[in-house]
Amino acid sequence: MKVVLQNLTKKFPNRNRKAAGDVIAVNDFTFEIPDGKLVGLLGPSGCGKSTTLFMICGLQEPTAGKIFFGDDDVTALPPEKRGVGVVFQNYALYPHLTVKQNIIFPLQNLKGADKLSKAQMEEKAYEAAKLVQIEELMERKPGELSGGQQQRVAIARAMVKMPKVLLLDEPLSNLDARLRLQTREEIRRIQRETGITTVFVTHDQEEAMSISDIIVVMKDGVVQQTGRPQDVYDNPANLFVAKFLGTPPINVFEGTVRNGRLYIGDADVLAVQGISDQEVTVGIRPEGFILDENGPLACRLSGVEVMGRDISVVSMNEFSVNPTVRSIIDAENQVNTACDTVRFSLKPNKVLLFTKDTEQRIYVS
Ligand code: ADP
Ligand code: MG
Repeated sequence: MKVVLQNLTKKFPNRNRKAAGDVIAVNDFTFEIPDGKLVGLLGPSGCGKSTTLFMICGLQEPTAGKIFFGDDDVTALPPEKRGVGVVFQNYALYPHLTVKQNIIFPLQNLKGADKLSKAQMEEKAYEAAKLVQIEELMERKPGELSGGQQQRVAIARAMVKMPKVLLLDEPLSNLDARLRLQTREEIRRIQRETGITTVFVTHDQEEAMSISDIIVVMKDGVVQQTGRPQDVYDNPANLFVAKFLGTPPINVFEGTVRNGRLYIGDADVLAVQGISDQEVTVGIRPEGFILDENGPLACRLSGVEVMGRDISVVSMNEFSVNPTVRSIIDAENQVNTACDTVRFSLKPNKVLLFTKDTEQRIYVS
């Protein structure tokens, strides 16, 4: 089921009476979620992710704009008529019901032709439980389950009606790191197996990048960029997106373009054809540095961390916006820690330029 968001806007009255105007939680969001894809809705806390999700599921009414499921305008439909399955951050399981009863719950309100017998409901509950591998836990109460198991129950409950659209709001944030990894792979597997169009909300860029077919990066209610995770990482449209994606984060420097060359301080680091002379903000991905004793960029060495496959070199540079510069180098390289200075040359495709005022990307031809 394709989902189309058309100029979707949500305003809330301002809670702070001293501040003027409404809070624009979501501002003119237009996007088409292709059938069967998993879209990661990504951005910092408060950027409008949950509000967007709640509008798609029908729990919140848009101030303006429309939502289509396939060709049907569902903007005015209540949640139960939309055919959506929702998983919230805090599971929201019924504590006094067993796992089985929790999963069956959404099926009990079906009316008329859709009404199911007890046996049919149980069968569907077992199918959903199998999907998330909790068949052995059906008679337990939520209080007798781990966080990860509870989250699986919540997913099974969302899946039991075979929704047309699955909506997940930070579903992994209450889990510990290892379980988070495992459960996200599980969600990906289930999504692939069932082909259900899915929106996955998270503030965790790594999570969104690893699980999504497409990511949508939001800031202050406004979509910044959409695209395949790797494409958005390689080609961020602005400094915000560049900084939001990637661990360790992109290194940011003050730079200058003069006569087709990029300077960081006095260091002539790169050719940048077709860009007029100006001051720029320079983003360099950690993997964009090459150890090179004749390299143009000199940094003061402050530490080296060996991380198995890679070496993380921590250094300082006067023109770095952040206190330290982090570069990731292949572990086959040797860093001479007796030296105060480490020199780098740069991989051109890992160096991104942004205008100083608007922080929009400047594309090097
Ligand atoms: P996210 O899920 O990305 O953290 P939300 O969608 O929850 O962000 O919130 C977006 C903005 O809308 C925030 O500024 C938040 O304070 C505001 N907001 C959300 N829900 C309400 C509400 N019911 N009433 C007033 N403001 C709200
Ligand atoms: Mg939220």
